[in-house]
Amino acid sequence: MKYYSTNGKAPEVGLQEAVVKGLAPDKGLYMPGKIEELPQSFFDNIGDMSFQETACTVAGAFFGEDIEAATLKGIVCDALGFDVPVIQVDDRIYSLELFHGPTLAFKDIGGRFMARLLGYFIKKQGRKDVKVLVATSGDTGSAVANGFLGVEGIHVYVLYPKGKVSRIQECQFTTLGRNITAIEIDGTFDDCQALVKTAFLDDELNKKLVLTSANSINVARFLPQAFYYFHACGQLAKSGKAKNVVFSVPCGNFGNITAGLIAKRMGLPVKRFIAANNRNSIFCEYLQTGKYDPRPSVQTIANAMDVGDPGNFARVLDLYNKSLEEIRKDISGKYYDDESIGKIVKDAYNKTGYLLDPHGACAYQALKDDLHPDETGIFLETAHPAKFLETVENITGKRITVPDRLQAFMKGKKQSIGMSKEFVEFKRFLLEI
Ligand SMILES: *Cc1c(COP(=O)(O)O)cnc(C)c1O
Repeated sequence: MKYYSTNGKAPEVGLQEAVVKGLAPDKGLYMPGKIEELPQSFFDNIGDMSFQETACTVAGAFFGEDIEAATLKGIVCDALGFDVPVIQVDDRIYSLELFHGPTLAFKDIGGRFMARLLGYFIKKQGRKDVKVLVATSGDTGSAVANGFLGVEGIHVYVLYPKGKVSRIQECQFTTLGRNITAIEIDGTFDDCQALVKTAFLDDELNKKLVLTSANSINVARFLPQAFYYFHACGQLAKSGKAKNVVFSVPCGNFGNITAGLIAKRMGLPVKRFIAANNRNSIFCEYLQTGKYDPRPSVQTIANAMDVGDPGNFARVLDLYNKSLEEIRKDISGKYYDDESIGKIVKDAYNKTGYLLDPHGACAYQALKDDLHPDETGIFLETAHPAKFLETVENITGKRITVPDRLQAFMKGKKQSIGMSKEFVEFKRFLLEI
């Protein structure tokens, strides 16, 4: 399969190059050259398939031309050895729980898949010192760092905004050591993302080093996020609830929802999507006004969605040939400020007993506000509430039990390198290590 750049000014490349490079040389994002519709037989059986089985079929449609079936199956099964259950929360509203992986957030899925695919390609090329640069607003860093921990030939540099991630999130990538280095940037997530992007486009760095990205701009992280949309529909189909399905997705960099839009092109039986935002509501405004007005992100209690210039917006535009009208047919937007998010978490807990995290809360409420009587809603619960312990405990006034695998991270010693948001400093660091 060939991958093209959303900017259309770079040559098409194969999967290996798209994965190793991350970003296209014209600053565009790689898109699959064709999006294959899955056969009816797949949809007939999807309710009886495990998450791993569904993921293998969808992975085959994306990567089957480029990777031998047995290898691909090995990568899928090794990366995704956990379930993504669909739980009923409210009348016609279901939670797709994506937090059962090792770092308790949905980014484990893309992060772990990508680590294994990149590891496979690097081994094949006989390369040794590949540097993975990743900017994180909280959860990407932990999922990617843990996904790559101990993968030979690869060193990961996690850039995160100082003081803007939760303590648990920080522990998950600053305590690992080995081939993982955490860099604490005096700035915002957008500054971190800008440093990473600039590094990829810097001639000198690219001549001297092999750099790649693990942000959702990388197709190996982006595409696997389509897997669970199919599995969720399968779960609902099993209980006869799969009519007029609406997916509500808590959005930051828009990788997750865009993978859902791709799944729809592959035949996913979904009616429409809702993009749920916090106060960083750039996309909601775009839907309303037709103007895309990126700006610095503001800090909220749903911090993994604090993105002021969503990287995957380019992919959304590309999928719909830049037609606002077409985009509006498939996606609507809702956004909530911190005060509302607090109230949503509290009310849902009191009414249903289900504890939302601040991100999933936005997506849940968007369904409460927007679901039509003939529709069934699934919101993506993207992280375990214990990852935002203080916030959620303050809201509900209840103590949360922290899962063991999360507690284990908190025992390590924080190791990180502090840096300004100036590119020259980051560049010097990369050249000297
Ligand atoms: C990253 C993240 C999001 C946003 O996902 P995007 O793919 O960047 O839109 C939402 N919720 C949580 C918990 C996250 O970690």
